[in-house]
Formats: sequence, structure tokens, C-alpha cells
Amino acid sequence: MTSLKSWPCAALAGAELASKTTIQVGGSAEWLLEPRTPEELRLAVVAAREAGFEPRILGGGANLIVADGVLAGVVIATDRLQRVFRPGRELSSEEMLRVIEPDDRMAPQSPKENARIVAWAGASMPRIVSTTQKFGWTGFEGLVGVPGNVGGGIAMNAGGRWGEMWDVVERVLLIGEDGSFVEKAREDCQPTYRNGQLGRAIVASAVLRFRPDEKAAVVERCRDYLKQKKDAQPVTERSAGCVWKNPDREKSGGLSAGKLVEQCGGKGMSRGDAIVSHLHGNFIVNRGKATATDVLTLIEDVHDLVAQKTGISLEREVKVWGS
Ligand SMILES: Cc1cc2nc3c(=O)[nH]c(=O)nc-3n(C[C@H](O)[C@H](O)[C@H](O)COP(=O)(O)OP(=O)(O)OC[C@H]3O[C@@H](n4cnc5c(N)ncnc54)[C@H](O)[C@@H]3O)c2cc1C
Repeated sequence: MTSLKSWPCAALAGAELASKTTIQVGGSAEWLLEPRTPEELRLAVVAAREAGFEPRILGGGANLIVADGVLAGVVIATDRLQRVFRPGRELSSEEMLRVIEPDDRMAPQSPKENARIVAWAGASMPRIVSTTQKFGWTGFEGLVGVPGNVGGGIAMNAGGRWGEMWDVVERVLLIGEDGSFVEKAREDCQPTYRNGQLGRAIVASAVLRFRPDEKAAVVERCRDYLKQKKDAQPVTERSAGCVWKNPDREKSGGLSAGKLVEQCGGKGMSRGDAIVSHLHGNFIVNRGKATATDVLTLIEDVHDLVAQKTGISLEREVKVWGS
């Protein structure tokens, strides 16, 4: 364990991580840092690097499996970075960073003008969905029912058939390789399917831009998409979302990863308390007492099954730390 004791923000040695992920498996972090502002986040990143660690950034833990045992090094959690506010028309980097008072959270502006918000990395995506419903803004309905935080959503380019995170990103404030803030416009970034293509850059904050619409229509679309999602995915169970990226449609005959797993007989396969969902072949569910080893072994089993039967080597979407 490192002898470094003074971190620039709240820090815990040996913090357990399972409860910070939606699948709820895995061990602990040697160090868990919990910054409260983008500047504290930046200082935490710099301090971790100075201590010889490339920090791992934890959002909502909704697409993440942490291996069993102790994870060496530094994990930085973003969930205290929750600010969401409406910016003025002229938006400066300082405004993206500022610590605001509660009264200041939503500056009085008509919902029909300046349909933008600034969200810090730890703001939850469900909260952004609620905000867009409240204001009658369209563009984010595709993220309904997707757990996790804005930073994780941008890093993963979360989304689905009704849209994805980067559709609404106007600008991001990143912490770059050299530990300083760098602002990037949407046009300077090349997000791809389930990948924000950020490299080692860390999302501190983002400006999200929506389009004014009828409030009832936005609410109705969210309700409809959420119902379809609940019918098809085990959203109320402990999982890490989709395990696999969808393969090249030409190679898979148009089948999604979940359908491929299903067709190969993978649904219901299990290791300990980890099981491939009967509802959706791309989800592995923790029935209660699964370990990370159970989940990771099951992932290998499913990969090998599909490779053997179809020749397709599925690529993991879910992130794995420490295996
Ligand atoms: C029930 C369920 C349904 C889901 N449905 C969908 C869906 O429909 N579509 C979809 O795309 N996903 C879905 N997911 C997966 C998950 O919600 C998304 O991938 C989400 O974007 C993960 O965000 P997070 O904050 O939880 O990231 P985490 O899981 O904490 O981290 C994921 C990755 O992002 C990185 N990261 C996190 N924060 C930052 C940051 N600030 N800067 C840089 N990198 C960062 C992490 O280091 C890690 O590599 C689902 C998950 C569950 C459990």
C-alpha cells in the first residue's frame, strides 16, 4: 500500500467497491478518492499520477465489473460531483466549473430558450431525463432507463436504438494527460458506437443541448421507451448492463449480441449465483451471492460458446477492473 496519506480530497483506504456497482460484485480499492468539485477531481488525478498510479474513474458503476480481491492503486469516484444547472447564453469555462448555491441551480429562463444545461460528471443520467421532461426538451429520451452518470455516459457513449449520449453533447470539459483542463467542442470529438473515444482524458463537466418540444410528447416518449426496455431487459435485477457489443451485422447475419447468445443456447448458463438472464441473452445477473470470479468465468464461457458455434469472437462492452 502506498505511504501517501494526504490526498487533495476525501479519501478512504481499502474501500469496498461492490456496493458502488450495479451488479454488486468485486473487492476493494487500495485508495478511493471522492472529490466534490471539478477542481478537486483535477487535483486528485494529478496527485494519483504523482504517486505513480493511473487513476481509475468510477461513475455509477453501471457498466463495470470489479474483480475480487484488492485493486491496487487509486479509484476516483465522481458521484459527489452532482451539480446540474442552466448556464447563461455566454458560457465560460469558469461557469462550467463554478460551485453554485442551491438557489442558483436553475437560473430563471423560459424553457423555450437556451435549452441547455451544464452537468458535472457525477450527475445521474436518470436525473437529466427528469430535467428534460420537466422542461419539455427533446433529445435525451433514448437514455431513459439507462443508469449511471453523465461522465460514464459520455465515456461509454451510452444509448440505444432511440439515440445516444453524444447526440446532446455540445461541449465537454476534460482533464487531459498533463493534468490540466481542456475544453472540447462536439465537432472535435469522434465518438463511436459505445465508445466516447476519450483515451485517458477524464470528463469533469459537460454542456448538454436539447431542443424545445411539447412537454407531454417528451413524457409520453420516455414512458413508451421505458416500457419497451422493461419488457426486454432485466432492469430491476443486479447486472452490469450489456456484457457484449453488438457484432458486425454482416458477420452475425443481422443478429444482436443478445440474440446470438440466445441462439447458441447461452440463456440460463450459470456459474455460482451468476446467470445469463432468461429475458435477455446480453445480460448477466447476480442472483444474490455471485462473486466477480463467477461473473468473469461465465463471461468466458459465453464467449467460447458463441465462438465455437458461430466463429464470432464477441467483444466485451462491459469494463473489467483488475482481472
Ligand atoms: C439495467 C441496466 C441497463 C442498461 N442499459 C443501457 C443502455 O440501454 N444503453 C447503454 O449504453 N448502456 C446501458 N447500461 C450500461 C450503463 O448504464 C452505461 O454504460 C453507462 O453509461 C455507465 O455509466 P457509469 O457512470 O455507471 O459508468 P461506470 O460503469 O462507472 O464506468 C464505465 C466506464 O466509464 C469510465 N468513466 C466513468 N466516469 C468517467 C469520467 N468522468 N471520465 C472518463 N471516464 C469515465 C470508467 O472509468 C469506465 O471505464 C445499462 C446498465 C444497466 C445496469
